[in-house]
Amino acid sequence: MDASDHEGNDMTDTDTTRTVAVLGTGIMGAAMARNLLRAGHAVRAWNRTRAKAEPLAADGARVVDTPAEAVRDADVVLTMLYDGGTVLEVMREAAPAARAGAAWVQSTTAGVEMVGELAALAGEHGLVFYDAPVLGTKQPAEAGQLSVLAAGPAGGRPAVTPVFEAVGARTVWTGEDGAAAPSTRLKLVANSWVIAATTATGETLALAKGLGVDPRGFFELISGGPLDMGYLRAKAGLILDDELVPPSFAVTTAEKDARLIVEAGERHGVRLDVAAASAERFARAAAQGHADEDMAAAYFASFDDKA
Ligand code: NAP
Repeated sequence: MDASDHEGNDMTDTDTTRTVAVLGTGIMGAAMARNLLRAGHAVRAWNRTRAKAEPLAADGARVVDTPAEAVRDADVVLTMLYDGGTVLEVMREAAPAARAGAAWVQSTTAGVEMVGELAALAGEHGLVFYDAPVLGTKQPAEAGQLSVLAAGPAGGRPAVTPVFEAVGARTVWTGEDGAAAPSTRLKLVANSWVIAATTATGETLALAKGLGVDPRGFFELISGGPLDMGYLRAKAGLILDDELVPPSFAVTTAEKDARLIVEAGERHGVRLDVAAASAERFARAAAQGHADEDMAAAYFASFDDKA
């Protein structure tokens, strides 16, 4: 960490303000950028579709045209893009402009092997790599209540901790070797549960509809028992109340994650039939016109036509 940042701020041990480049201001990235600004950090925001980053200017971010411009004076680079391939493409362009020794917090949900490639790119440019996916969706992201799953060198943690504290309610350290992707492994395990629960919710409600069962009867039946679950209630509510737009976690992103999970299982000799079926349901729902809706819209994959 330099003794001073490019805002002219004194960066002593007690100064926890950082200049953070946020690459990707979609559902999650925009919310994280806002919380960084609220916590007093300087934010350089870049998004492929600039219009989506523009509103952050009102919160104090400097919205820039290229990823290289965003990272140039950053202490910390935060990537929150669609997938690992996108991160590789964007960071190949940006990394040469970054200051050697800057931290790279990689929060996009990517595949395990891809994280190794990203860490190698970081190494080529002298960036200190943190494998740092997050658990939590749009609302927790907006509230700064994410769980950050972080892995990277202990020596660099003071540089990134203020960033994690701004976006999350807790940081779970999983190891020091970000290239081995210990956080991404945990994230994929957690998302396998999220996706299975979402798929089960959609299918259960679809069956109720098909059989002419009032879903309220089902909820009353399980109410207060071990089969009841906040997540079931939340996702079922989106379907029943037709609140699938705007999405907290879009169908296409969920399909991407389901495929990452299946692939990770295959590489390690684990068959994941539910995740594979979920990927197909997300793909079918997307083809029916639900791609940009909340992933709960996989419910529609149970019906031949757009229900
Ligand atoms: P999102 O709203 O769809 O944002 C995706 C971002 O990636 C946008 O900034 C998009 O830019 C950018 N992008 C996509 N393709 C690109 C390309 N080829 N080149 C450059 N930029 C590209 O998705 P999100 O929900 O914020 O998710 C972001 C990441 O967080 C994903 O890896 C997701 O799995 C993970 N995540 C999501 C949640 C959640 O609940 N939403 C929770 C935890 C983790 P444009 O605006 O130009 O399209």
